[in-house]
Amino acid sequence: MFKESPIIRRISRQIMVGNVPIGGNAPIAVQSMTNTLTTDVEATVKQIKSLEAVGADIVRVSVPTMDAAEAFKLIKQQVKVPLVADIHFDYRIALKVAEYGVDCLRINPGNIGREDRIKAVVSAARDKNIPIRIGVNGGSLEKDIQEKYTEPTAEALLESAMRHVDILDRLNFHDFKVSVKASDVFLAVGAYRLLAKQIDNPLHLGITEAGGLRSGSVKSSVGLGLLLSEGIGDTLRVSLAADPVEEIKVGFDILKSLKLRSRGINFIACPSCSRQEFDVISTVNELEQRVEDILTPMDVSIIGCIVNGPGEATVSDLGLTGSSKKSGFYLDGIRQRERFDNNHLVDQLEQRIRAKAKLLDAKNKIDIKEV
Ligand code: SF4
Repeated sequence: MFKESPIIRRISRQIMVGNVPIGGNAPIAVQSMTNTLTTDVEATVKQIKSLEAVGADIVRVSVPTMDAAEAFKLIKQQVKVPLVADIHFDYRIALKVAEYGVDCLRINPGNIGREDRIKAVVSAARDKNIPIRIGVNGGSLEKDIQEKYTEPTAEALLESAMRHVDILDRLNFHDFKVSVKASDVFLAVGAYRLLAKQIDNPLHLGITEAGGLRSGSVKSSVGLGLLLSEGIGDTLRVSLAADPVEEIKVGFDILKSLKLRSRGINFIACPSCSRQEFDVISTVNELEQRVEDILTPMDVSIIGCIVNGPGEATVSDLGLTGSSKKSGFYLDGIRQRERFDNNHLVDQLEQRIRAKAKLLDAKNKIDIKEV
């Protein structure tokens, strides 16, 4: 059993997005993007706060117009989490949000146009310590690169990214991270592998337009899992056609499964099986929802019978092993005399999980945001 991740991370230079370090040995940051109209300040602030509540480290907001930039100013004043402004072409918008306290600009220098405009954006970013994210996407490669490669390839994505990187390098600006996203897992993984060898800037991972909640989560887990297991990746977004809150939850689940970040409860539970002494599936599903607010890292095993119950319980913070009518309970791997009534398992487990979280928090003086 691995208590810590055996993954050796790629060494990258560190940048700061607001107060969140990205790269170096910083925890891999999880981010999402709002899907409200940015000009609807109230709705956007509400969504950002719901993302903050589930632990988002960074939130990206689309700023396509000057009206949206004005709305961004008001939004920024009302939230704590660092904000990235997504700007595609208009350098004036970049300058405006820089003035309004943006924490990171997502803009490709090669798309800005004239040299003096690129310099103006880079100079504002430098003056205000604002990093830039270069974001290349397999679906929107430059025309000449598309013609050269005839279809999106890892090399094509790399070439596109390096054009933007070279512009920033030439301007002696190194405070940037890069993404080379694609909706195809092999394409994205190939591009990130090439990029990781080419530059030492932090990499923002993503399988773009991955799909709906289930299919997109699986695709992202496979793609990001491959990269993360090779040590590649400093921040990530799981792109789902779903509530952005789900993107944060899935992002943390991916990192949790690789032991790259520990945050909240790690449940170990039986699949469907006829030997279960209680309904494991409904118990775990209800419990997961009830303790979603707990950020303390903890392993909880909910196992339906004695075949694997004691084995899992002895390596968990809390463990339940199914038995007829009353199930066995383990704390810190030790079997307790107390047994839990199978008719009230969720209530009893929730109570114990909350008590244990309090104890662990007090003991470790955990600053959850830093875990
Ligand atoms: S531990 Fe028991 S209930 Fe769970 S999957 Fe195995 S045999 Fe089934």
